[in-house]
Amino acid sequence: MSNSNSKKIILSEQDMPKQWYNIQADLPESLEPPFNARSGKFATKEDLCQIFPKSIVEQEVSAERFIDIPQEVREIYKIWRPSPLVRAAGLEKFLDTPAKIYFKNESVSPSGSHKSNSAVAQAFYNKVEGTKRIATETGAGQWGSALAMACEMFGIECVIYMVKVSFEQKPYRKSLMQVYGAQVFASPSNQTEAGRKVLAEDPANEGSLAIAISEAIEDVINHKNTKYSLGSVLNHVAMHQTIIGLEAKKQLEIAGDYPDVVIACLGGGSNFSGAAFPFVMDKLQGKKPDLKAIAAEPSACPKLSKGVLAYDFADNSGFTPALKMYTLGHTFMPGGIHAGGLRYHGASPLVSALVKHKIVESAVVKQRAVFDAAVTFANTEGILPAPESAHAIKIAIDEALKAKEEGKSKTIFFNLSGHGHFDLTAYDSYLSGKMEDYDYPSEKVDEALCHLPKINL
Ligand SMILES: *Cc1c(COP(=O)(O)O)cnc(C)c1O
Repeated sequence: MSNSNSKKIILSEQDMPKQWYNIQADLPESLEPPFNARSGKFATKEDLCQIFPKSIVEQEVSAERFIDIPQEVREIYKIWRPSPLVRAAGLEKFLDTPAKIYFKNESVSPSGSHKSNSAVAQAFYNKVEGTKRIATETGAGQWGSALAMACEMFGIECVIYMVKVSFEQKPYRKSLMQVYGAQVFASPSNQTEAGRKVLAEDPANEGSLAIAISEAIEDVINHKNTKYSLGSVLNHVAMHQTIIGLEAKKQLEIAGDYPDVVIACLGGGSNFSGAAFPFVMDKLQGKKPDLKAIAAEPSACPKLSKGVLAYDFADNSGFTPALKMYTLGHTFMPGGIHAGGLRYHGASPLVSALVKHKIVESAVVKQRAVFDAAVTFANTEGILPAPESAHAIKIAIDEALKAKEEGKSKTIFFNLSGHGHFDLTAYDSYLSGKMEDYDYPSEKVDEALCHLPKINL
């Protein structure tokens, strides 16, 4: 089926995994549940059911190791799945490294990123439970376009609050969402109390994912038959994404390989979880104690590397239950880096727990170095990566160069979470030589950390 010269390792549709992997079954200690700061109690399933369908809430708290992927979801996955595993031979040659570099190409989905893996699942469960309308937020627009397509396919109305800086930088993402029938607002918007409050204080506010989440949740609370949908952070989203790593594992097996290092970028943590967890499972089960899993973060927003592990709100106004996660503070406004999908103050509780137990590590990269890596990748592998994904590429290149220095062969696997076809303004900025770099904004973070919710358990 495959030999050492294969550029791509392709699975047939029949070989697509039939279950997702739920890492909650293998954690060193069970997760601390979300905390409802208003009631002063842990959030119950009933609390969560106010904004999510019941089957999603069940998945959120499940400790079952494998969960079936519904047939209807698998049918839509077939539009682009199984996605290819690609040997980055061009990049290896350019780097003159003894390391083998593989990447999973999630850019082949209709929306251009991994986000569709969870969007289709979430729209399906909402459909089954009678949801008529879904409200959500989107940063760079990938989640919004993924959910818009999924909702359209299941006949659900879709309302999207899009972070303003991206709304302006990436007007075509908005157009794509509209083609899929969604209604799109630039956030902060005038549609919600949360948005109006931010605009009153700062009319020029560029928005953030946390503000957009506040708006979407407020929209859900104020509309009938409307549910909320989150594109990252939560346990069920991480689980839906594990199809990436599960496929990759089968594909690497065909290639006769297993990674020494797994790398993905980290915004809220979903593509990292998806690519890494099926391998981290082997580490947790004692089969691969030396596996390294690295989450690549931007210097403008490095929550795993510089944040604190604390209960914090998932949104900017404190609507949501607080999650135990690495956070820079829910009021923290990251600089306007082009990787909009990485401008989020917190990290998935699952990834946070694994970092706490030193099973997963993180690495920080600056914007210009990220784009150096992105352009190198485009020129050696032909694919224009999303700025988010280029964070993973940068760390993969570093690992490959380290292998060269040490004179060691090593297998590196990273996730190409999406393509950059809607990010050409960012590439223009890089090519003009005027792209800004962002140092870690320690003062802004210190300030935001003062606003963590005071929770005494
Ligand atoms: C949304 C997004 C990310 C960041 O989100 P995660 O949940 O951390 O994966 C990364 N890459 C792309 C292409 C995205 O669309």
